[in-house]
Amino acid sequence: METKYIFVTGGVVSSLGKGIISSSLACLLKARGYRVTIQKFDPYINVDPGTLNPYEHGECYVTVDGHEADLDLGHYERFTNVQTTRANNVTTGKVFQSVIDKERRGDYLGKTVQIVPHITDEIKLNVKKLGKTGNFDFIITEIGGTVGDIESLPYIESVRQLRWELGSDSLCIHLTYVPYIAAAKELKTKPTQHSVKQLQELGIQPDILVLRTEKDIPAEMRKKIALFCNVSPDAVIQSKDVNSIYKVPVKMHEQHLDEIVLRKMDVTPEGEPHMKPWLDFLDKMDNATETVTIGLVGKYVELQDAYKSINEALFQAATYADRKLDLRYIHSEKLDENNVDEKLSDLDGVIIAPGFGQRGIEGKFVALKWCREHDIPTFGICLGMQCMVIEFARNVLGMADANSTEMDSRTTHKVIDLMEEQKSISNMGGTMRLGAFDCRLREGSHAAKAYGKTEISERHRHRFEFNDSYRNEFEAAGMQCVGENPDTHLVEVVELPDKRWYIGTQYHPEYSSTVLSPNPIFSSFIKAAIDYRESKQ
Ligand code: GLN
Repeated sequence: METKYIFVTGGVVSSLGKGIISSSLACLLKARGYRVTIQKFDPYINVDPGTLNPYEHGECYVTVDGHEADLDLGHYERFTNVQTTRANNVTTGKVFQSVIDKERRGDYLGKTVQIVPHITDEIKLNVKKLGKTGNFDFIITEIGGTVGDIESLPYIESVRQLRWELGSDSLCIHLTYVPYIAAAKELKTKPTQHSVKQLQELGIQPDILVLRTEKDIPAEMRKKIALFCNVSPDAVIQSKDVNSIYKVPVKMHEQHLDEIVLRKMDVTPEGEPHMKPWLDFLDKMDNATETVTIGLVGKYVELQDAYKSINEALFQAATYADRKLDLRYIHSEKLDENNVDEKLSDLDGVIIAPGFGQRGIEGKFVALKWCREHDIPTFGICLGMQCMVIEFARNVLGMADANSTEMDSRTTHKVIDLMEEQKSISNMGGTMRLGAFDCRLREGSHAAKAYGKTEISERHRHRFEFNDSYRNEFEAAGMQCVGENPDTHLVEVVELPDKRWYIGTQYHPEYSSTVLSPNPIFSSFIKAAIDYRESKQ
């Protein structure tokens, strides 16, 4: 079968969930046995989102091959269980950089380099890159932004050209919004009509419309939309708000999205998608009656997307343990000796979040001291792990000024320090220790028990590391370095073996946790939290 290309565009407003619709379709096609991947094209000038802070762009996701990516790639992996790579995320910055490099090399010698055809050709090249590998039957391309944005025009133009070239091997799904006007008690289709018109003006006729809505859209209204937008009535699909994003594939299948996509691309749908494991997960989610309460100590508490992968990894682990997840965000800047008892004592487990910079860090030390002394399951991730090391140095080893050189470059006790290979780096973009690295866990450690093995590989995103010259001192006092990189011997995991569950990982296990393959260390943490909860009753 020729590789087929599905484009997902969005209209009316942003945040409608193009990523979730793309992921849900991929999930269904995968469950039908097809090889599927999803890629995101983002219309901003940053070469990658690695230099954007969470206020701008939510969490920065990291692929196995070390690309700092849009958080939608996290959804793609969680829904499909297929790993993405740097080829799955392209930005305007990356496209322009490549075209300008080619221009300097002389690849276009004699020609005026223009948006059309040079930028659009570069976009098209990138769209087809994964298709050329022969590894996929379907490539779903999500175009970031909203139709009508100035900056997404070159992408829309590229989709127009590709649709012309690819014919029925391509398809366009347009996601729009049908608002409910409470005062009039009515759903309104006009924004959708306008948005489709805008797409048509740019030369693209969508094949399928997915309408995001808070209320059921009546059949006549869908027919009306179909009529106005040149789309067949069965291809007008509603995406009504649900209580979990993981139900969206099921909702899409109920309306035959997967079959419609296949038929429109001249593929005869055979049988039903194999969704049993997915449905079992949803059953567990719906049937859980008891709760596990986890506190996440971090500085981006008001941003629901800042810790996206951690939230999802915790949710997956809790669901498989038949628990509802009660996740509480605890603002690290507002945590101090006087309120820590009140803020943490209801929790069954505490996560100390990753992060950068000084803001909120002292609150993390307060939380960690309390967690360590109260022996509550505690999980430090990346900066969270580094904070575990610093808190232990200060309060157990008596090094009052212990710190990371990220926060205080002049401290006498640099227990967390810049990695050797980082010292000569001045460019900030894409230069951290990024991507998956092997890690060897000590036999018999809590971490090894959690994974059920000693050889693992997890993804990283950091510049600083545990300072190896302190290793013996820490180990003698009880903090064990139970995970290390087999080649460089960098410390990747620390733990306090005499505590219930007190583990810090320099890597980010949340990135590899998916619905069908939850990360074992999150499962182990949640299990410890449940055991602790039960021991309190
Ligand atoms: N700021 C720390 C470092 O760069 C930790 C990074 C993180 O938590 N992702 O090493």
